[in-house]
Amino acid sequence: MDNQESTNPARKFLSVFQYSKVAIEIVWSTSAALTIVMAISTLVAGVLPAAIASVGGLFVDAVASAFQQTGAAAEQARNDVLFYVFIELGLVVVMTGAQRLNTVCQSILRVLLGNKINVMILEKALTLELAHFEDAEYYDKLVRARREASSRPLSLVIKTFDLLRDIIALITIGIFLFQFSPWAVGLLAVAGVPAFIAEAKFSGEAFRIHRRRSAERRMQIYLEMVLTREDGVKEVKLLQLGKLFLQRYVDIFRNIYKEDRNLVLRRGFWGYVLGLLASAAFYFAYGWVGFAAIAGAITIGQMTMYIAQFRLGQNAVTNSLTAVNGMYEDNLYLSNLTEYLEHKVPEQTGNQEIGPDPDDGIRFEGVSFTYPGSNSPALNNVSLHIKPGESLAIVGENGSGKTTLIKLLTRLYTPVSGKIFLEGLELKEWDIEILRRKIGVIFQDFARYQLIVGENIGIGDVEDIEEEPLIEEAARKGMADVFVKDLPRSYKTQLGTWFKDGKELSGGQWQKIALSRAFMRSKADILILDEPTAAIDARAEAEIFSHFRDLTANKISIIISHRFSTVRMADHIIVLEHGEIQEEGSHIELLANEGQYATLFNLQAQGYQ
Ligand code: ADP
Repeated sequence: MDNQESTNPARKFLSVFQYSKVAIEIVWSTSAALTIVMAISTLVAGVLPAAIASVGGLFVDAVASAFQQTGAAAEQARNDVLFYVFIELGLVVVMTGAQRLNTVCQSILRVLLGNKINVMILEKALTLELAHFEDAEYYDKLVRARREASSRPLSLVIKTFDLLRDIIALITIGIFLFQFSPWAVGLLAVAGVPAFIAEAKFSGEAFRIHRRRSAERRMQIYLEMVLTREDGVKEVKLLQLGKLFLQRYVDIFRNIYKEDRNLVLRRGFWGYVLGLLASAAFYFAYGWVGFAAIAGAITIGQMTMYIAQFRLGQNAVTNSLTAVNGMYEDNLYLSNLTEYLEHKVPEQTGNQEIGPDPDDGIRFEGVSFTYPGSNSPALNNVSLHIKPGESLAIVGENGSGKTTLIKLLTRLYTPVSGKIFLEGLELKEWDIEILRRKIGVIFQDFARYQLIVGENIGIGDVEDIEEEPLIEEAARKGMADVFVKDLPRSYKTQLGTWFKDGKELSGGQWQKIALSRAFMRSKADILILDEPTAAIDARAEAEIFSHFRDLTANKISIIISHRFSTVRMADHIIVLEHGEIQEEGSHIELLANEGQYATLFNLQAQGYQ
């Protein structure tokens, strides 16, 4: 953001307020009515204290004149005293009403705003691509935006309104004091401004320091997570990582601490010195008012009023300094939120619902892909053709590009060069919703939903999530039905450890649930298993794959596996190495080739002997 880095002092000073507008816009769109009520009550609460002080002055004068007068004049003065009491009471009633109304609005807005911002964050998350989630910096923005969504924006709005209230109060007080002496107003303004500017400057500086440090803080948060979460704790204990990680945590803190301490010290020093300047001016004016009263230039009532105004003014200055001081944290949050929300996501433009040649299946033509920020391609010039009814197995070492190929086929990524066709139509021409409906895929790192068993399987096809017979059928094919029947509430058993009475499954059982989910997607034309079977024994894997192949005659099935007992069953096999197809053909052909496939196959076969 250029104005944050700006060297122009005025802009730097104003940068403290750059997100107030954004915050008010969000609040306004949450509830215009509440925002208006809040603004009006803020205005009222800003103007009334000075008015009350001035009525107080008139009251003192009326009391003094009641002392001095006799007869009808004294009677009139007594009536005036009563009158001012009622007026002041009336004003106080209105002011406390406005303050209370303001608090009530804030409470309601806090709840509405928390929900609104969370929904905005989640809606944006739905439009993001996989690449965004893999981009550490952007993902971090999402996490941070969520963390304080319910408190920060309202806090900034409250501070902005408080500041406005204090400024209105100061202007009103200024108008009253002006009648005493324009010089006094000028003096107080000149003496108060430096403290204000310093506060805004330090607030802006703290904002910039914190933003610069986001990588270090992210590492700290990560270390906290590893040390305190269930999935990290096993290794932390057994590998005795606790000390090491804690030391790293403390080291980061030490680095950060130095800079923070310097800022706090400078802030404290200047805050004190400039505050003294303002107080000196205040007490100078205080004495001045006293002497003016002694000289008879003003009445005792006026003196009382001016002194009350001074005190109010002093309070308003202190309050507004505190508000500016705390704003940088809210700004940090909003800068993060706006960057997250305003990040441009490329639109999915395809709108075709069928391809010209349904019998053509899948076709890769010279497809290459390089991950953002990487300098070697994960896939290089891959061409392949799979017809409906065929099964394809992909073999290759870790990192050879197998998953990347699936991610491109499912349009989680777009090829850097080359084209992928489905039914003769390029993937990017397809309506993404229709395309995704045609594909069922289970990845190695499939999700373990903290839902009941039936839903865990049923969500494979959301339309049939309630269809118990279909779910049970899918579970049979995925070989999950045997252990599901033994669970306390069968298909209604809650899974995972998050919720009450949840049953945790073994790794292999979870895989069978995930596989059943793939079988649930029976309307899909392409079914893909990306190594979700590692924890399942070889025989069960082979059986599951044979179910997979039998699904129907004109579907395409793709499997990634390290087990040749499964791979050999596929009609077509490709061997990937460094993102390129090294060999391809059927099991028999590849063995006859005596290449990499044959070597790996024999190696594994020997292991079983
Ligand atoms: P495989 O599935 O064959 O084990 P992948 O397709 O996952 O391999 O990975 C291919 C290559 O791409 C690897 O070198 C890996 O480091 C890299 N890679 C995978 N995912 C990402 C990613 N999200 N960002 C950057 N590089 C990645």
